[in-house]
Amino acid sequence: MVIHTTKETLTQALSLKRNNARKAGKNYKIGFVPTMGALHEGHLSLVLKALEENDVVVVSIFVNPTQFNNSNDLEKYPRTPEKDLSLLEGITKDLIIYLPQVFDIYGDDVASKQYDFEGLEFEMEGKHRKGHFDGVGTVLTKFFQIVEPTKAYFGEKDFQQLQIVKKLVAVNKIPVEIVGCPILREENGLAMSSRNARLTKQQFEEASLIYKSLTEVREKFDSHSIADLNKIVAERFLQNEDIQLEYFEIANEDTLKTALEKANATKYRAFIAAFLGEVRLIDNMPLN
Ligand code: AMP
Repeated sequence: MVIHTTKETLTQALSLKRNNARKAGKNYKIGFVPTMGALHEGHLSLVLKALEENDVVVVSIFVNPTQFNNSNDLEKYPRTPEKDLSLLEGITKDLIIYLPQVFDIYGDDVASKQYDFEGLEFEMEGKHRKGHFDGVGTVLTKFFQIVEPTKAYFGEKDFQQLQIVKKLVAVNKIPVEIVGCPILREENGLAMSSRNARLTKQQFEEASLIYKSLTEVREKFDSHSIADLNKIVAERFLQNEDIQLEYFEIANEDTLKTALEKANATKYRAFIAAFLGEVRLIDNMPLN
């Protein structure tokens, strides 16, 4: 495993590999898995998929300041670099890790560019985390320029982000294939997340309400109206004082627009954001 902390050494190492492959008449495939660290099995599933499909895999570990709309959330975001490196080394020694400081990515200008994601950015997370997707677009554009990956891997756990990244590369003609990967869950159904490390044992158990509600909605999707499903979920969360629902929405999977009624030949997904104390969790599930 090789660890790079600057873009200069990383790009040099990758060009050397690319050039050697080219000389041997081979097309060198670089897989890329961007993360914010505090790694868990969900992250590792992305790395394993990338290893299957590429000649080399770059994993970045970088808590991107510009995508946080809340400074307390940024400050408290779990950071466990040593544990992360030993987890990655445990799957294979054949990885390239990019572990930059903020200056290496942003220089002195720690700011986001503004992006037009054709409306995807105004739904759900976009409404509740102002500027979040501009931060995501900014950092990923920089990463794609540095790594020049053939394929980049993103979890469906952050489904809105996955759709926005697909839009980012399509609109800006960035030559990378975006691969979506399924959500890995804890035994109680809770989606694995770096933020789960901040939950108490009791909160961790209570948080399974998110998964239970999504599952209930999926089971009742054919037999109930969207208005009824919205009511059912709101009631479930009102019954539990330890967990505050920020939003529940059934949305069109492609446009991410809130669905009020079901239409034919349309894919729907249910989305939840909820707080346990200060910890904000998100999850989603396909419905049809
Ligand atoms: P993060 O470190 O939270 O920015 O996540 C890095 C990548 O891992 C993103 O593409 C996430 O969607 C993905 N990811 C996070 N949690 C999970 C999970 N439970 N299952 C699958 N992918 C995940």
